[in-house]
Amino acid sequence: MTQGNLIILCAPSGAGKTTLARRVMARLQARGLEASFSVSYTTRALRPGERDGHDYHFVTRAVFDQMVAAGEMLEHAEVFGRCYGTGRARTEQALDAGHWVFLDIDWQGARQVKAHLPALACSVGVLPPSRAALEERLRGRGQDSEDTIAQRMAEAVAEMSHYREFDYLIVNDDLEVACDELEAVCLAAGLRGPLQQSRRATLLADLLQSD
Ligand code: 5GP
Repeated sequence: MTQGNLIILCAPSGAGKTTLARRVMARLQARGLEASFSVSYTTRALRPGERDGHDYHFVTRAVFDQMVAAGEMLEHAEVFGRCYGTGRARTEQALDAGHWVFLDIDWQGARQVKAHLPALACSVGVLPPSRAALEERLRGRGQDSEDTIAQRMAEAVAEMSHYREFDYLIVNDDLEVACDELEAVCLAAGLRGPLQQSRRATLLADLLQSD
């Protein structure tokens, strides 16, 4: 798995992480690089507008537990009462093929992936520019009760409280600036010395050979 790059994105909902990631993946693709979001497994119900196999693989608790027991999850966690996990096989295949893989997971999953793949994984926390902006985004179309909004705010604060654990922190105020910053982080992460040493082993051997 030394050929690909693993970018972990952690953010509360309302921070604009998905838009940001999609734009940066498009920029990487424009550079001729393969980049994709990992599609997680979850036990939560499908929401209107979501597609099975596209937004998530929606599975029962029994199937989820079976996958965990069989070691088929790269990481998994219970987030706000539901189970979420990243499938190991697809992620490892994509990394082996040299792709950029983006994981949209919570802080617990980020911890596990960093522990499991310390040299490869790079974690990025994405923050909203202010509490007011976050609340405005969480209010969405104004159809939810105050209780629901208060619960979403509490969940967002719980996720953001882990800000110290991430390799990088990006404040998503101006989307273009945030895209520039995430692209820079991705490119720098891919050029880390230990990764380059194995990827460029042939070149290094050639450069250092004595005549
Ligand atoms: P939602 O249900 O709103 O799509 O996601 C709720 C939370 O679950 C988000 O914070 C999201 O990052 C997290 N999440 C989604 N997929 C995974 C996963 O595969 N693993 C972990 N650990 N968290 C996930």
